[in-house]
Amino acid sequence: MRHFLVHLSRHFLYFIIPAGCASCGEEIAEGGGRLCARCYAGLRFVNAPFCDACAVPFASTEHSEADGLCLECRQTGPLWQKGRAAFVYEEQARQLVLGLKYGGRTEYADILAWFMVQAGKDILRDDVVLVPVPIHRSRLWRRGYNQAALLVNVLSRLTGRECYPNALRRKRSTHPLARLTRGGRRKQVHDVMVLNSRYREKLQGRHVVLVDDILTTGATAEACTKVLLENNCISVDILVAARVTLFESLERQKGKFDA
Ligand SMILES: [Zn+2]
Ligand SMILES: [Zn+2]
Repeated sequence: MRHFLVHLSRHFLYFIIPAGCASCGEEIAEGGGRLCARCYAGLRFVNAPFCDACAVPFASTEHSEADGLCLECRQTGPLWQKGRAAFVYEEQARQLVLGLKYGGRTEYADILAWFMVQAGKDILRDDVVLVPVPIHRSRLWRRGYNQAALLVNVLSRLTGRECYPNALRRKRSTHPLARLTRGGRRKQVHDVMVLNSRYREKLQGRHVVLVDDILTTGATAEACTKVLLENNCISVDILVAARVTLFESLERQKGKFDA
């Protein structure tokens, strides 16, 4: 609760004090948005061409075959349909995501969600419902919030789409460092997600956009998708703030990254 109040007051101050850059605090020229030019320049957007399912950017159009999928998705396609990411998980985007997730910078959800709306334009159709990837309640108590649920709330506010921030529940905590390979991570998150029963009827026959801060191996998103489809959702698409690429995962394996 105390954590939550600290976050809340920080969020509030952000709105009453004339804000500089939301990331570094530098002064911003009038009408310059929430990030200064330097921080903005540090963002690497996921621009086309990218994989239609997992949003990994292609080095060139040569990799994008007629189906628009990367090799991995073509071989073992995920259960969800489309995947969209605002940024590649590096530099500035990484700072924003980590700040939101571990640094209590809940106001970053506003910035990230704004860019996620641009990235997810084609999947945020009128009839979709937004559902966040859940975190385990032990983590929720410690952190005071689920960063994906914060993103969902802002996305819903920006787009007017319906949202169910508590639709999914995580039965047990999983170790974040074990998400290095798709197979290993898949085994770990198998059967870890459940649908809260009071959302069963509400979600029946709906198209879901599943929201998270980052997409790494996709195993967590897949576990959520499986539960949603088993409970008669028509389709699931994925929308994340940042896509962790293979390179980033390898760097983290070497201990350079702390996510
Ligand atoms: Zn800045
Ligand atoms: Zn892919």
